[in-house]
Parts: sequence; structure tokens; C-alpha cells
Amino acid sequence: MIFDTHAHYDDERFNEDRRELLGQLPCLCAGRKSSLPDCTRELNGNILSKAGGCPARGQDDKTCNIGKCGANTDNTTDGKEDFSFGCVGKVINVASTVDSIEDCVSLAKEFPHVYAALGVHPSELEGMNEGVIDRIRSLCRLEKTVAIGEIGLDYYWEKEAEAQENQKHWFIRQLELAKEAELPVVIHSRDAAADTLSIVKEHAEGLSGVIHCYSYSPELAREYVKMGYYIGIGGVVTFKNAKKLVQTVEETPMERLLLETDSPYLCPEPHRGSRNDSRELLYVVKKIAEIKGISEREVEDITWENACRLFYKV
Ligand SMILES: [Zn+2]
Ligand SMILES: [Zn+2]
Repeated sequence: MIFDTHAHYDDERFNEDRRELLGQLPCLCAGRKSSLPDCTRELNGNILSKAGGCPARGQDDKTCNIGKCGANTDNTTDGKEDFSFGCVGKVINVASTVDSIEDCVSLAKEFPHVYAALGVHPSELEGMNEGVIDRIRSLCRLEKTVAIGEIGLDYYWEKEAEAQENQKHWFIRQLELAKEAELPVVIHSRDAAADTLSIVKEHAEGLSGVIHCYSYSPELAREYVKMGYYIGIGGVVTFKNAKKLVQTVEETPMERLLLETDSPYLCPEPHRGSRNDSRELLYVVKKIAEIKGISEREVEDITWENACRLFYKV
């Protein structure tokens, strides 16, 4: 089963079909039986209804039985198909703008398999202030707030020294908040390798987290892994020019990799350029299996366990 540790379903590109897509996600067996309305599967002798009747849901259709952490549902023993393989069992919807924080909370409240990471992205600091920190602090108490994120540094979009200082300030404040709330962090870092590393070393003592959409060297990944961090791998690993990332996957222990879409962005090959969603992780799983020389099933299982270990409130 697939755990998408980083998605933005609050993005306007999902305005048309957000609820339909998220509602059916746990029973969509990405690629294998493919398209959205074709979700009729046989489970324990019962023919399931078409889309909307999720095999993972309980009788009342309100409780989702799929993906209780550490107990990957497996129905292979009686010769029936294992419905969990290739399915998207859980999603962490990650906040980026100040406004998206409330959207993330609503999505997590509405969908049993959706969780929230709350924080403000370094390129989205408009409207950021101590009041927002207080608001996030209070929302951390919710059962389904599982991380602080995405937070970090992005110098690709911001070259001005003053603006970069502002990014550092709010990165540090949100790391402090994560320590206070005892939650892991989802770190965004682009063209800011040295500053990110030094801030994490200085201000994130005792914290764990993920370097999401990892784009640096395998050596730096090793450094983060040594500090207890995980490396987020998404669609980019399937791109033709992803040599460095392929090498990072090769060299990083399987126990430290997480799956992520960053949807609607970064759709993997063969759908590069399209709107991304969690089902597309199938191609990322396939690629990691290829690189590591293990089965796709193993990739799903190990990354699932990894996500449950890091995001311990899930
Ligand atoms: Zn990001
Ligand atoms: Zn993101």
C-alpha cells in the first residue's frame, strides 16, 4: 500500500474534482486497474460496488479500515488478490500559504485517510506573523495534525539578502514550534543547501523530519540520514535528467526513503507535465524498485513503515 507523504490537494487545480478524487483514493489501485470509476474489486468473496463503495471502508462506509499502521492488510493467504498492493492508503496534505492551513485542517477532518502538516512555505511568507504561529500551535493539538510543514528555505525564487533573512527567521521559528509541539518537520529546501543544513544543525536538535523533494547530492543525503532524517522521493526520480537523484536513492538505505507526490506538481514519467495525484506514485514505486533491485511490493511496504515511524501520530 502506498503512503503519499506530501500532497497539496487544497490547490486550486483540484477545485473541480477534489472531493470525488480524495473520497475514492483508498480504493483506487493505481495503474493496475487504473481509471477512477473502475473500482469494482472482489474482497473476501464479496463483489464490491462501483466507485464510491470503497473496499477499505467499514459497513457504515464511515470508518476506513485500510492501512492501520503496522498492519498492512493482506488477503493473499486464501488465494484472493491482495487489494492493498498498489492502493493509496494514506495521504499527508501539506500546507504552504497562510490560508492553506485551514484548508488542510478541513480536508483532514473530512477524509479518514488524509492527515495534515501545518506550516508556511518559504516562498509564501506574505501574511506570516506571530499570530499565525499561535494559530498553528493550537491546531497541533488536533489528532490529525501530524507534522509541521512545509517549512524551509528557497533561494531559487528569492535572491535578495533581506528576503532570505526573513525566510531564515520563519524557518527557525517554525522549527522551534515543532520542538514545542513534539512533531516532525517537512522541510523544503531549494538552492539553499548550506544554510538549510546549518539551521537544522543549530535549531532542530531532537527533531526528526523529511527533506522533501530532495534535490541535493547523495553525500548531503547521507548527512541528513545520520541526523535521523528521511529523504522524500517523488516524480523527479523518473525524469531522464535525474542522475543525481537516482544515485541518492541507490546510496540511501531503503529504511530512510519516503514516497511523495508534491501533487499537483512534478508528475512522474510517463505523464510528466500533467496534473499529479497520489495514484501516479505507482511509477515512483516502480522506479525505486528498479534502482534498489527489490520488488514493488517491498518498496510500498518499507516506505509505508517508514512514514508511520516518522509521522507517529498517524
Ligand atoms: Zn516544497
Ligand atoms: Zn510541497
